[in-house]
Amino acid sequence: MAKTILKVQDLFARYGPVRVLHGINLRVSEGEIVCLLGANGAGKTTLLNCICGLHPAKEGHVEFCEEDITLVPAETVVRKGMAHVPERRQIFSTLSVEDNLWLGASHRLREAGKPAILKEIDQIYERFPILRDRKRQMGGTLSGGQQQMLAIGRALLSRPKLLLLDEPSLGLAPLIAKEILQIVREIRDKWGTTVLLVEQNAIAALAVSDRAYVLHTGAMMLEGTAREIANDPRVQSAYLGKA
Ligand code: ATP
Repeated sequence: MAKTILKVQDLFARYGPVRVLHGINLRVSEGEIVCLLGANGAGKTTLLNCICGLHPAKEGHVEFCEEDITLVPAETVVRKGMAHVPERRQIFSTLSVEDNLWLGASHRLREAGKPAILKEIDQIYERFPILRDRKRQMGGTLSGGQQQMLAIGRALLSRPKLLLLDEPSLGLAPLIAKEILQIVREIRDKWGTTVLLVEQNAIAALAVSDRAYVLHTGAMMLEGTAREIANDPRVQSAYLGKA
């Protein structure tokens, strides 16, 4: 059986007096793509932020590679091998595409050395040829889909054991959104990168995922294989537009 890479246990979170997550349990095994579905405001982003150290859990635990990382700050969590691509990507719009990619590898530069990182950037260009074509362009001049590719490429340059993606298809045309999710699948198949994916686009997300969780107003409502979740009547009526 594959090793558990991420374990969330009985996690509670709040913003001031407002309770947002209530006793969340979730597991991701090495090499899996797991998606987290749920309506607007269900608490998906808050859960990702608790996992990667951007929001403090009120109660409960987050374990990453068998180490307790609850309340460990985000910059330390990155060094432990967790990369986070936040909602709306947050690339550096006034830096070139190539400089954005370098930033993803900056904390590894001393250890890995420049030639090795250049080779890795080349691998990213092989997967995203449009980024090679535009490598001297400012990040902010790219289209939404290209910016998402850049954000994923930058995250991969930190050589993550676990990649957290928050709504990678947000604001993209349906075909581009589908392509981005297919690329996530290809990256896992080729490099074995484990992925926890937050999505509102349930159909596209389930098509590339192995397992899924459904969050409903801060509590975990369902979990199962992607196929089980896609066939669940509650999910079909609430998220897949089927009666
Ligand atoms: P979306 O798909 O809209 O991003 P989500 O499932 O990711 O939704 P969250 O963004 O985690 O949900 O928000 C969960 C709840 O917490 C919502 O009710 C939201 O209004 C509230 N919330 C989120 N961020 C804050 C904040 N910084 N301060 C106060 N309340 C917040």
